[in-house]
Amino acid sequence: MSHTMAQHKTESTERSTAREPAQAVGRTALAASRRRLVMGNWKMHGGRAANAALLRGLMAGAGGAAGCELAVCVPFPYLAQAREALGNSSISWGAQDVSAHDHGAYTGEVSAAMLADFACRWTLVGHSERRAMHGETDQLVAAKAAAALAAGITPVVCVGESLAEREAACTNDVISRQLAPVLALGAASVMRMVLAYEPVWAIGTGRSASPEQAQSVHAHIRQALSALGAGPVRILYGGSVKAANAANLFVMPDIDGALVGGASLVAEEFLRIAAV
Ligand code: PEP
Repeated sequence: MSHTMAQHKTESTERSTAREPAQAVGRTALAASRRRLVMGNWKMHGGRAANAALLRGLMAGAGGAAGCELAVCVPFPYLAQAREALGNSSISWGAQDVSAHDHGAYTGEVSAAMLADFACRWTLVGHSERRAMHGETDQLVAAKAAAALAAGITPVVCVGESLAEREAACTNDVISRQLAPVLALGAASVMRMVLAYEPVWAIGTGRSASPEQAQSVHAHIRQALSALGAGPVRILYGGSVKAANAANLFVMPDIDGALVGGASLVAEEFLRIAAV
């Protein structure tokens, strides 16, 4: 099956294999059928030499995380390096953003077709750093997700509330608002996505959401997905995930893996997260 054709299958079930029994603790058989995905977000870190060492380390240790799908989202200039290094491995690669436009006078933008040229499997869309620093709206994030899908790339749609929003007890409302234009793309499209819940206050702070806090929001998202007919979509948790807290997050019934920032820059730590 071609890479593009594979994208048209349900994201949560394609390439899936039975989850290792130890990983299924606390999760129903249905939850266990959503294969765990651990994805690194390198953000604006790296360089050719450091990347080469990191990618070598990941490939050398990936066998220890055989029950888990591994991926890295790298800065645009290093897509070619990731493709070259990872091409024959089980680790997939992606970008951290994509344009909503197909082509044209959009200086600095990178289209989904360009990412597809590098055989990207994934792109993040709507990371909170882009929402906050680049003014990305919920509608723009949905348009980016649609553009990625049209090029056969799986968008990982990030949502999450700020600390002020959590303290005002409107977390679920914020998540619902952020998701609304994405869900409006319809069940067939949403089934080809991955979602990531990343509370803004937990990103890069060392303060992860507790498993219960994360599960509560994941359950809210799952309910919205199920109502649409897209219940099997994987939902990752992101925000200060480390080997030390991953196991307690991963036993939660609606947490299907992690989007990992800082800890993805150290091969051993990233692999330990994937191997729990
Ligand atoms: C992220 O950038 O998506 C992220 C979750 O970062 P960190 O793991 O460093 O909190």
